[in-house]
Amino acid sequence: MESDVTRRGVMGLGLGAALTIPAAASFAAATPARARAPGSVGIAVVGLGKLSLGQILPALKLTKNAHLAALVSGKPEKARKVAAEFGLPDTAIYTYDTFDRIADDPGIQIVYIVLPNSMHAEFTIRAFKAGKHVLCEKPMAVTLEECERMIAAGKAAKRQLMIAYRCQFEPVNVTAMRILRDGTIGTPRLVSAVMGKQTDLSDPSDAWRLDMAMSGGGALADMGIYGINATRYLLLEEPVEVRGWARTDRNDPRFKTVDDMIAWQMRFPSGAIGEGSSCFSQPGTMSWQAIGSDRRLVADPGCFYGGNTLRIVGGKGDVQPSVAEIDQFGNEMNWFADVVRGRSPNIAPGEEGMQDMRILHAIMRSVANGGASVKIDAGYKRAHDPATTVGIRTSI
Ligand code: NDP
Repeated sequence: MESDVTRRGVMGLGLGAALTIPAAASFAAATPARARAPGSVGIAVVGLGKLSLGQILPALKLTKNAHLAALVSGKPEKARKVAAEFGLPDTAIYTYDTFDRIADDPGIQIVYIVLPNSMHAEFTIRAFKAGKHVLCEKPMAVTLEECERMIAAGKAAKRQLMIAYRCQFEPVNVTAMRILRDGTIGTPRLVSAVMGKQTDLSDPSDAWRLDMAMSGGGALADMGIYGINATRYLLLEEPVEVRGWARTDRNDPRFKTVDDMIAWQMRFPSGAIGEGSSCFSQPGTMSWQAIGSDRRLVADPGCFYGGNTLRIVGGKGDVQPSVAEIDQFGNEMNWFADVVRGRSPNIAPGEEGMQDMRILHAIMRSVANGGASVKIDAGYKRAHDPATTVGIRTSI
């Protein structure tokens, strides 16, 4: 029988049940919004799909530094329904065509881009032109050239760009970073990550993920990115060489333009190795383990929306550190609100998103060349370690 934690995690990731507008709306209605702190920052959420309805909007009921200020959607009826649940007036609803008018709304300081990956660059750049700060979902974009344009647009507008790496705000992952830094498991030797889910072409939310032009890389771009990002923040260094291999059944109608399973290896300057896989034809899995010279640190699940667990294995016996659960989306939005108010550092700027894109593209290049080694050393260095900047929060 499935354990409670697994069931909660799978459901929490949105892999077990389709989210509907009424479900999100009734959650919002049932949960009174938290009182805003003075100076709370207004957020416009762009794209009302599964992630926005299921996680982001409910989390905006919990945040004290940030609140929902506007909605941007191609479906006015859906937007009106959600707006009503959040007490927003019709004037706070924009379409993709009227989006640029947000420039005239001083109640919006942050634009949160929650659109298919191929639309991230366009709406990020338009938001900067409107004078807003941008929180953009992962993966940052589809091409490296888009990443460069997004970073340049933010600099030109003198506005902040943060990529929404929720796990860098998630207590189990931040606790793990600290355990690795303090030497509890010895010298890190290997980080192994497994990320995947089952996809369904008839689900519109999966259909674009299975389209190379819109997703920019199928399972690798959608889920593998968590494993790549986790390996980097756990080891606190950057890979200099990667390899990748794919296994894809081209007779499966889901995999006409994207690969299904991609396995990768990354070599780090310290001698540590990162390895992992991403897959769109397996049960929902987001786990990783870090193997040190003395002990192992296991997070399974490690990157779900909730129910993540940590175990230190080996040595004098297994230990399961107790970590208080908080809403990682709320924590992330509260943090970014503080970034734009100049109170906290931006721990995941565009450069951090672009580094993962660089690695994803290097892995895809290796896949295309039968697993050949691809060197990558762009000189990127993380400016802020989430282990010490975000720290472990017990509430948002
Ligand atoms: P969905 O497909 O469920 O939602 C995307 C929304 O974008 C749609 O509902 C639609 O909103 C809007 N949209 C506008 N144009 C299009 C188009 N041509 N095709 C499809 N949708 C369109 O995707 P998700 O919510 O799952 O993912 C959105 C983003 O969030 C992605 O970048 C994804 O990688 C990221 N993500 C991040 C997660 C995390 O844990 N950080 C988890 C899940 C996703 P409307 O109808 O309002 O116009």
